[in-house]
Amino acid sequence: MCGIVGIVDAGGVSIQLYYALYALQHRGQESAGISTFDGTSLRKFKGQGLVADVFSPAVLKDLKGTAGVGHVRYPTTGSNLPENIQPLNFQFQEHFISVAHNGNLVNTCDIRREYEQAGQIFTTTTDTEIIAKILIQEISTSGSVEDAVQLCMKRMQGSYSVVIMIDGVIYAFRDPLGIKPFCLGKIEHGYIVASESVAIDALGGKFLRDIRPGELIRMDGDGVKCTQIAVAGRCAHCIFEYIYFARADAVIDGVLVYDVRRTIGQKLHEEAPVSADSVCSVPDSGTAYAIGYAERSRIPFVESLMKNRYMGRTFIMPTQKERERAVRIKLNPIPAHLKDKSIVLVDDSIVRGTTSKRIIEMMRDAGAQEIHMRIGSPAIKAPCYLGVDMPTRKELIASDKIEEEVRRSITATSLHHISLDALVKAIGFDREDLCTGCLTGCYPLLIDGETANPRLVNFVDVTFQSRLESFEAETT
Ligand code: AMP
Repeated sequence: MCGIVGIVDAGGVSIQLYYALYALQHRGQESAGISTFDGTSLRKFKGQGLVADVFSPAVLKDLKGTAGVGHVRYPTTGSNLPENIQPLNFQFQEHFISVAHNGNLVNTCDIRREYEQAGQIFTTTTDTEIIAKILIQEISTSGSVEDAVQLCMKRMQGSYSVVIMIDGVIYAFRDPLGIKPFCLGKIEHGYIVASESVAIDALGGKFLRDIRPGELIRMDGDGVKCTQIAVAGRCAHCIFEYIYFARADAVIDGVLVYDVRRTIGQKLHEEAPVSADSVCSVPDSGTAYAIGYAERSRIPFVESLMKNRYMGRTFIMPTQKERERAVRIKLNPIPAHLKDKSIVLVDDSIVRGTTSKRIIEMMRDAGAQEIHMRIGSPAIKAPCYLGVDMPTRKELIASDKIEEEVRRSITATSLHHISLDALVKAIGFDREDLCTGCLTGCYPLLIDGETANPRLVNFVDVTFQSRLESFEAETT
């Protein structure tokens, strides 16, 4: 999972890219990078760590230019190596190219092998370099970016929202199933494409619309053009964006994430009512759900766990012991709110079970009598191959357990996960237009070693446009 942004702005782009990446920081904390085009060549800077740590005022001043791309990385493919930090930059003939990608390709090995057999070399272990290779090869023969993007869409299987800068022109495209979010906005002197609408908001810009699945957007000083490259028979928007990944204030494919989570909280009460003294969230990921639960149940919402906001992610710590210790530092229970009380504890998801088990232990130590756990996602049963960092089945606590076994393992008084039907209804799309792979083990694409749901796979009928015509995009 990553965050991407592309900006054209007559007044310079580096500061705006920086703030946009800041707004997308939750999508990746491992590394950050910005490339700009100064009129003759690329200016670039990237490094490991958070946006605020990677870029200094002097670095941003040096990133001159009126077009640029940025990336925050949360690794799903390619290990944590400096060469894997994006944007990836290339010089080809007289052209300067910079590429940033959010998503995960599932047929990388085949394509890479084919290119290597043809004598091509790779300098990273990311799937993003494959995208760049396909694009550059086609641009060098046909000279058409539209044809190159169409070739990408024909060859690549998986999820991809991609922003490319070629000599100061920004191109953005989204896979035909629209798996990862991607949107377009207007800023004072130019345009922006970004993973989430919150990046547009951060710049005081105007959200224009989501980039359509299979669409290519071209932006430069003259405006925005769009070309529909491919059309699929359905979408497969990632359901986990709504559950956990996106910021609650983001609007993705027309749906405000906060409202989805709050509605699920209400449904959690309807599906599994319980009497309790207070509703408490696991901050911040459980808060919108807990507010919905409290509203519907009329049980007061009382913060009983305080979050240390300066602590990094516990989820990505390498060992179980480290993750357990980190939870204690990140969240502190308030004994005065817990002693002898019955609590409804609300979180977005249980993955390995480490977080919930540790939190319940801490709350009991602080005096809580009963802890009724309510979860905003159905049980997570299978890994994600399409861009969310989800562990293997072996590590997923619910992959081989029924809810009662998970309850016992995390030591909750009671446990309820929202039903898939209620979740889908809260989002508002048809179930077929969502990727529910992590919840059902049925993926919208064929994935090696996994049983695809034949009904869904057959349903994905991607048509490629034979005459590629560009139109002025709606920009008001
Ligand atoms: P766990 O201890 O593995 O059960 O972690 C579950 C917690 O991690 C939940 O509270 C979520 O808020 C958070 N979480 C869920 N999925 C992810 C993910 N893919 N990356 C980072 N954090 C996650």
